[in-house]
Amino acid sequence: MNSFLSPTPYIPNRIPDPLYVRILDTTLRDGEQSAGASLNSKQKLEIARQLAKLGVDVIDAGFPASSKDDFHAVKIIAQEVGNAVADDGYVPAISAACRCTENDIRSAWEAVKYAKRPRIQTFIATSGIHMKYKLKKTKEEVIETGRRMVEFARSLGCEDVGFCAEDAARSKREFLYEIFGEVIKAGATTVIVADTVGISMPSEYGKLIAAIKANTPGIQNAIIASHCHNDLGLATANTIEGACGGARQLEVTINGIGERAGNASLEEVVMILKCGAYHVLGGLYSRINTRQIFTTSKMVEEYTGLHVQPNKALVGANAFSHESGIHQDGMLKYKGTYEIICPEDVGFERADEDGIVLGKLSGRHGLRKRLEEMGYELEDEQIDAMFWSFKALAERKKRVSDADLKALVSNGVSQTKH
Ligand code: MN
Repeated sequence: MNSFLSPTPYIPNRIPDPLYVRILDTTLRDGEQSAGASLNSKQKLEIARQLAKLGVDVIDAGFPASSKDDFHAVKIIAQEVGNAVADDGYVPAISAACRCTENDIRSAWEAVKYAKRPRIQTFIATSGIHMKYKLKKTKEEVIETGRRMVEFARSLGCEDVGFCAEDAARSKREFLYEIFGEVIKAGATTVIVADTVGISMPSEYGKLIAAIKANTPGIQNAIIASHCHNDLGLATANTIEGACGGARQLEVTINGIGERAGNASLEEVVMILKCGAYHVLGGLYSRINTRQIFTTSKMVEEYTGLHVQPNKALVGANAFSHESGIHQDGMLKYKGTYEIICPEDVGFERADEDGIVLGKLSGRHGLRKRLEEMGYELEDEQIDAMFWSFKALAERKKRVSDADLKALVSNGVSQTKH
């Protein structure tokens, strides 16, 4: 069953296979920054365990300097999940977020250092608007701070240091080449290109990543990461374009939760890699066990209280339901007519094998199939006789249940139950 190509040995700043894509899950950090979401340590630990089952390469476990609780949560995740080594050598790197200050970095390191693969990711804004109004620093000061703080992190003994250019999408490209070049020299193993405000267009973001890959001094000694937000609904598209441009660490969250409109969603990004990899993406792949997706999605939904919209790709309640008659007819004949992914591939369990949901748009074929599954064998005339009562009921009720069907059948249609 377990057919992943093993990404081990894990080398912080290099991935031997050029097609392998690392997945960093930031549900516990950026995801928890969603308005209205808050997780306790026990829930975070459970989610982290589930993320390890999913096989994410890096778990961004939190922001230790932000609160005592977060520090504690990151520490226990590092101690437990960060040391649970699987038979094939897999163990997720445990990462903590921190601003470019000594206190933040020290606190992050103190929390993650227990893990087998401890990592910290430090960030500072690089856009004109953020440097001027928020940081009140000059470009030179920002470069100097980034360089010194990466050096400081390495000096503590951390060998895996990510440097994130916050608001990179609105930053000057030449400035990004320069600051990334400097932090790589100082020991950064990953450079993160954040579209913090979700403003980028996919082609633009892909070109930005490619330009960073082409123009940053020393970039061959670091991994480029994407970090995209969903303010225009483009987080997933931007992330995929980023991967095409050369990003090999994709930062995502379960159900796409995160600040404001959220982050790129893990399930979408991973399944796009799986579905489009060979035709369009040149064979990019991750090691995610996609069959764990649905369980993880449900756990995050329950613990955060952030409900998944029914039409959400891959994990929404309706993602594998078919209501209209034409679609149901196709599904009953051959599932490939209307499904590009088997629900089992994402661990989705649907009550009905064919995903047939009986409603006002359903046809005779779907109705007959469900009745047969319930044990009724009816002649065409009997189906015809009850079809319009079924339609009328569906108009009123939206969804017709098995109990409703039973009532319809016993209301006048003769039956042979077996
Ligand atoms: Mn973010």
